Amino acid sequence: MKRQSDKKTENAFIRTLVYRLYPSKADQVRFQSYCDYRRYIWNQYKDESDHAYQRYRYEKTYYAKLGMKVKAKDFCSKYPTLIRTKKQINHDKKAWEYQYPSKIALMAMTDYDNAMSNFINKAMPDWGKPKFRSKRNPRQGFKLPAKSFKLSGKTITVAKGRKDKKHGNLVLKTRQEFLDYPTGTVSFYMEKGRYYVAVPYIIPKEKLKSNTEFKGTAGIDLNVNHYNLYDGQHQVIDLNMKQLKFYYERIKHYQRLLARKRKFDKKNIGSHNYLETKTKLQRDYSRVVNIQNDFLQKLVLKLCQKYERIIIEDLDVKHMKMGISSKGLHRSMFGAFRHVLTYKCEQYPNELIVADRLYPSTQICSKCQYRKTGDEKITLWGNKKHHTKHNEYICYQCGAELDRDENASINLYQYLESKWYKEKSRTEKQTV
Ligand SMILES: [Zn+2]
Repeated sequence: MKRQSDKKTENAFIRTLVYRLYPSKADQVRFQSYCDYRRYIWNQYKDESDHAYQRYRYEKTYYAKLGMKVKAKDFCSKYPTLIRTKKQINHDKKAWEYQYPSKIALMAMTDYDNAMSNFINKAMPDWGKPKFRSKRNPRQGFKLPAKSFKLSGKTITVAKGRKDKKHGNLVLKTRQEFLDYPTGTVSFYMEKGRYYVAVPYIIPKEKLKSNTEFKGTAGIDLNVNHYNLYDGQHQVIDLNMKQLKFYYERIKHYQRLLARKRKFDKKNIGSHNYLETKTKLQRDYSRVVNIQNDFLQKLVLKLCQKYERIIIEDLDVKHMKMGISSKGLHRSMFGAFRHVLTYKCEQYPNELIVADRLYPSTQICSKCQYRKTGDEKITLWGNKKHHTKHNEYICYQCGAELDRDENASINLYQYLESKWYKEKSRTEKQTV
């Protein structure tokens, strides 16, 4: 089970949880056929609505010449040709289509409508035109609206099609119990030979409150391969887990194999051997992601239960400052850490403070607040003028010798007392 998305409403959180399903061989075939059916309807509807769209564009210019406007949002809901098309598709169903739940077809067309209206809506420039769904897509799935499935304990039941005389209802099992408050559309999908269902829930706020008493502040400085935490005492969170090292080595090995095969002959790319190695590589990648995700969730949970207030640095600045390979950044999970921390902090609720972009947490002395400027600044490689090492912080005012990352985490811990924070809150008050 993994988290997919979190939305906050007034009194509750909407959260989508993904469960892995364990269907039998026969049910797998049925699952696949449901996916195929959604694709069939989607593509059929796409063909029809493409014609309608062309007509819409024609009419738009036609009406525009007369000084009238056809609103984009009306295209899907009110455009007569499209409504007729939908009815037509339902009407023209062949006998074999009735062995599938009719809601699958309904959802496919509704989703297509949504995608289409997003595409036409100019406020959403990133939306492309809905695409043809190929059976070669690595991810296949179907969706069902609320109330057309039943959750009980560890099983989810999908009602069979109206004229399906061969099978009973499709019953799928997970290993974790479903919660009591599902809402909206569930989506079933299969990927890499595994089966999943994503169920959105409305979780009431009182259910989220934890019983743990948290107090104190933590400043966290994010670095490549380790995080430094300060809450009165130093703590280093190591990200180079032993398991991961093993997988990183093996990924390197597989990548080298693939590169050699490519270099030797371009035709190798489609060969059986090439694909086999590629599959192994992808398997290792997904394992790494799973391990990282698990580690991150546990780490953030622990932090959220322990501290009242958590202070981190603005990460965009961090990225620029570090100027290191994207591999290192990716493996240090900066983005994912911030994302998980943000929503967990809302939930518990902790106070998450992101330090100002201008706050020079690496340049300040945590003991006397002396700030290094000009050629005294420490960079990733230390300081050239004073010949300090990359991990040293030596203060030229009070003479303190500190570890660079520990110093930065103390500075974040003390951020609320710094003039940067006071200035920031002052300007914020003025603007309000
Ligand atoms: Zn100092």
